[in-house]
Amino acid sequence: MPLGYVIRSHSNIYYVLVDGQEVECRPRGKFRLDQTQVRAGDHVEVRLEADGEGRIDKVLPRRNCLERPPVANVDQCLVVFTLAEPEADYPFLDRVLIHVEQAGVAPLILLNKIDLVEQEAVDAFVRTYRDQVGYPVLPISAREGWGLDALLPHLVGKISVLAGHSGVGKSQLIRALEPRRQDVRVGEVSAKSRKGRHTTRHVELIPLSSGGLLADAPGFTYLEFQDIEKWNLRDYFPEIVRHQAACRYSDCLHRAEPDCGVRAALQAGEIPESRYESYLLFLAEIESKKRW
Ligand code: GDP
Ligand code: ZN
Repeated sequence: MPLGYVIRSHSNIYYVLVDGQEVECRPRGKFRLDQTQVRAGDHVEVRLEADGEGRIDKVLPRRNCLERPPVANVDQCLVVFTLAEPEADYPFLDRVLIHVEQAGVAPLILLNKIDLVEQEAVDAFVRTYRDQVGYPVLPISAREGWGLDALLPHLVGKISVLAGHSGVGKSQLIRALEPRRQDVRVGEVSAKSRKGRHTTRHVELIPLSSGGLLADAPGFTYLEFQDIEKWNLRDYFPEIVRHQAACRYSDCLHRAEPDCGVRAALQAGEIPESRYESYLLFLAEIESKKRW
């Protein structure tokens, strides 16, 4: 039985990529009866029929499932960030990284528009987020095509979604990766369609000719810390995790506690100040919500 990934759907017709070919499929009746949602990213078993169409016989277990955009089996989030146009928003980046990790998705930071800034600024960013924090970082220019060769191998065999502020170059990146798709504009999928006013966009996974599937709707746009307790927040900061074993108290929140290994590392320049500031900001946010 051939296996494939659902790349888009339209009124109960699912387009499944089977061996690089798009097959138009209708799910079997039981999916409708069970109200099993088949969504983009689902890994499905397809029965090919004589007329060239297919039937989805089975949806394989999902590894994870995002609600916005509605995509299953997401491997990776390309977190697009810029130092200029728009200017760097570090708390936003740190917030996205936490949500990506919480969703069980691997982040890959793409520092875009490096054609607009000094090499020194690029190097400083890489030192902070790659060397000190520990995330993979690739400096690119989607407009100039710089750094894309290094990016392609990271996309092969994976389902990726994009994240990042409006204007950072997400659409430009898709167009640079897939020149045949000059029509692509990364657009939000609305959470609820309001009758007659907004129609819910369908998310599409774009098959890249160099390999991999990339969602045309951004993820991680809703960024409230809902399920993170104040004692867990620190675990979403890899560089804090590395240093907190040195704290005198195991429940240290790394604020004013004595003998705090994290503040010592901050003072020694081993933890970036902006990251520590994000940590304090998010901690205060979580605490203020719990005061009821
Ligand atoms: P999106 O909102 O994240 O999808 O951003 P867009 O892809 O629409 O890009 C916003 C603007 O930034 C457009 O005018 C792009 O041409 C421009 N842009 C995108 N990537 C780059 C880049 O690498 N360098 C420069 N200088 N401009 C870029
Ligand atoms: Zn501490």
